[in-house]
Amino acid sequence: MKILVTGGAGFIGSAVIRYILTHTDDSVVNLDKLTYAGNLESLASVSHHPRYAFEQADICDRAALEEIFVTHRPDAVMHLAAESHVDRSIDGPLAFIQTNVVGTYTLLEVSRSYWQGLEAIEKNQFRFHHVSTDEVFGDLGQSADLFTENTCYSPSSPYSASKASSDHLVRAWYRTYGFPVLVTNCSNNYGPYHFPEKLIPLMILNALEGRSLPVYGEGNQIRDWLYVEDHARALYRVIRKGRLGETYNIGGFNEKTNMEVVRGICDLLMELSPEKPKDICHYRDLIVHVPDRPGHDLRYAIDATKIKNELGWLPDETFETGLRKTVEWYLNHLEWCRRVQDGSYRRERLGIG
Ligand code: NAD
Repeated sequence: MKILVTGGAGFIGSAVIRYILTHTDDSVVNLDKLTYAGNLESLASVSHHPRYAFEQADICDRAALEEIFVTHRPDAVMHLAAESHVDRSIDGPLAFIQTNVVGTYTLLEVSRSYWQGLEAIEKNQFRFHHVSTDEVFGDLGQSADLFTENTCYSPSSPYSASKASSDHLVRAWYRTYGFPVLVTNCSNNYGPYHFPEKLIPLMILNALEGRSLPVYGEGNQIRDWLYVEDHARALYRVIRKGRLGETYNIGGFNEKTNMEVVRGICDLLMELSPEKPKDICHYRDLIVHVPDRPGHDLRYAIDATKIKNELGWLPDETFETGLRKTVEWYLNHLEWCRRVQDGSYRRERLGIG
């Protein structure tokens, strides 16, 4: 298969591309606008691969998308391109509506028109896989419930509302046009190449520099954490073996409070990087509580039974093994982090300074 991956220069998209190129015989076309979150340095290990191609384009740009479909003639689309950071969506929702809603609509329409023009065999095999989040389901609060594929949508933030809108569009294209879609809703990912504005890398890098570790409110928010390489493997399983029109929830069976995550990072750093910044006895001394994010959901938790039973997928990593791998990765890739933090990964590709 030739798979068109949108958002392939992002955190999860780059893991998907590395997975496909190293574990399968499929080809990849990476379509990415290269926003601040897109970093081609995350693909350095595969960028010269003969089965890899890159196209810089905006999923809102219909003409550019049409040209890419004509040039590459993909057999499937894995759609990951999105604005993805909740705090940014609160400060500026427009980019989220534009990319996540209008961009998904535009990609759906270009994909559908391409699909309609395919010969019968190719048409039957074509798939459009939309990658979404468990945040569309909203807040489980203190309940013991889990999100299933049938849980009603109740998004809380501009980010999750825009992702919910895109999920609805994708499912409507299946019902209305018979367009062959698959949808996955996944819990919080963590692992290598995660942008340093997100919780786990932010805490690791702040701690190493002796800066404070800001935790929203009491840090009681519960998330179900999934190691990104387990997610990449699940996504590939779904596009290969998933039933058309179906939704699969993907989770790590790893519910942790934010405080547990931050303390876990501090404890691992004590072991793996014992030369702490001066003035502290333990990295935990750097934890500070900051006012909670507006509309912050208390608990997300995924029931991933369907993908386990139907497609035989289970995560390989526990939170403990995955977090250890993640902290070790950041300690060994401080140069990648420095280039993201000082902006040189963008300046150089834009030809500035
Ligand atoms: P990310 O922010 O790291 O990467 C997003 C990528 O999309 C970047 O490379 C960016 O350049 C690209 N992009 C943004 N706008 C674009 C546009 N208009 N046209 C083309 N490319 C554009 O995001 P991520 O964390 O890798 O998430 C990928 C997908 O998975 C998203 O759809 C997100 O909603 C979903 N998801 C993420 C998580 C998580 O924990 N990170 C969990 C579940 C689902």
